Amino acid sequence: MLSPPRPLLASLLAVCCATAVLAAPAPAADLTPGLLSRAKTVRDRALLDDTGYECLRSLTTEVGPRLAGSPGDARAVAWGVAQLEHLGFRNVHPEPVRVPHWIRGEARAEITAPWPQALVVTALGGTVATPAGGVEAEVVAVGTLDELAKLPDDRIAGRIVFFTHRMQRTHDLSGYREAVPIRSRGPSEAAKRGAVAVVMRTVGTSPERFPHTGSTRDEANGPRIAGLALSNPDADLLEREIASGRPVKLRVVNTSSWADSTLSANVVGEFPGARRSHEIVLLGAHLDSWDLATGAQDDGAGVAIVIAAARLAAQMKPARTLRVVLYANEENGTSGSRAYVRRHWDELAHHVLAMESDLGAYRVLGFGTRVPVAGLDAAREVQRALEPMGIAYDGNATNAGSDVDTLGSLGVPLMSLQTDAEPYFDLHHGPNDTFDQVDPTLLRQNVAAYAMIVYLAAEIEGGFGRLPLR
Ligand SMILES: [Zn+2]
Repeated sequence: MLSPPRPLLASLLAVCCATAVLAAPAPAADLTPGLLSRAKTVRDRALLDDTGYECLRSLTTEVGPRLAGSPGDARAVAWGVAQLEHLGFRNVHPEPVRVPHWIRGEARAEITAPWPQALVVTALGGTVATPAGGVEAEVVAVGTLDELAKLPDDRIAGRIVFFTHRMQRTHDLSGYREAVPIRSRGPSEAAKRGAVAVVMRTVGTSPERFPHTGSTRDEANGPRIAGLALSNPDADLLEREIASGRPVKLRVVNTSSWADSTLSANVVGEFPGARRSHEIVLLGAHLDSWDLATGAQDDGAGVAIVIAAARLAAQMKPARTLRVVLYANEENGTSGSRAYVRRHWDELAHHVLAMESDLGAYRVLGFGTRVPVAGLDAAREVQRALEPMGIAYDGNATNAGSDVDTLGSLGVPLMSLQTDAEPYFDLHHGPNDTFDQVDPTLLRQNVAAYAMIVYLAAEIEGGFGRLPLR
């Protein structure tokens, strides 16, 4: 997952047909004992079911890394279609999405003075190459973007900027959110001040030598310089050399490049509702991953969770349609979520709920909602059904995730499950995000919680209403 700039509602409105009527259904009634009992059956089946785990085994083994535009991405789309068909989904089809195509190349960095040492680095996703042969320059260390802004130009120009900020371990996303602006904007901000390259302490909490990638965003018409992430131990080493008080020099080489944009696809499949099939409960996850590993937690686990949850909930024949969307290119620009909104504009008013899984298959700690006041009672009923699983209520201002957030802006009620983010950022976007890191018991717990929510959402009389447009 990442924190992209949200697409402007205005631009969406310009692109999309403007005829959709965002209706406001009546608020929902209490859960009946029968409905609650069926939801518990869905949960209990999910806790014994390994459809999700087997799905993840298949994706990570047979497809592997799947960065947007890469051969792995194309294989993932074919895999998604075949997997949904195999598991009994209906109306399975790819919906074409144009995606950017960045190619990693080779990244190296070494301290050349005062005490030469090689560093473990990785290129930030989307960054540019250094000049051929690399750049060598004195290092200037800053903690954050604010500290960079306070430095005079002559301390930055011609140097390599080193962002030292250490991401904090937190159970929620606050540690990540604090760190990620440096990755997103650090290279472009440093370039505007005349820096020749950027290295940053990894946006990750692993104490091992695992630097994490993730998207960086150069300004369209601004100067561009290479941005690399250092593993935490390598960032520590660089800080110790700087602490000596002697001038520290780095040599940085990066050969990444951009190819032409290409076509990928959102993969969509459904279980049509038994009585109100035109009303949709959307369950999403992103099919792409970064390229350093097989994207098992990010977001293979999410893909597995939503597929398994929809299938289990559908066994109870709910009234509304359960739609799974495996989004293209979340990591490098959220192309898939924007394409989904454009393509499905005319039926957005019939989306009763949207949620996504993009925080790994860790213990589910919290349940968040973003529903209108009129839908809060019904949302709290869902929360009470989750309570026996140890899932607390996180309030009604959830950030439901980068692929469904735009739907919320357009009136669709959102819900989210907050997993324990503390272990996630040891491997997120890094080379250690592999199948063995996923606990099948916790994966089943996630499937059970999602299955229960989407089953109830597909049944609750009147839905949750409509959010105000933002
Ligand atoms: Zn993700």
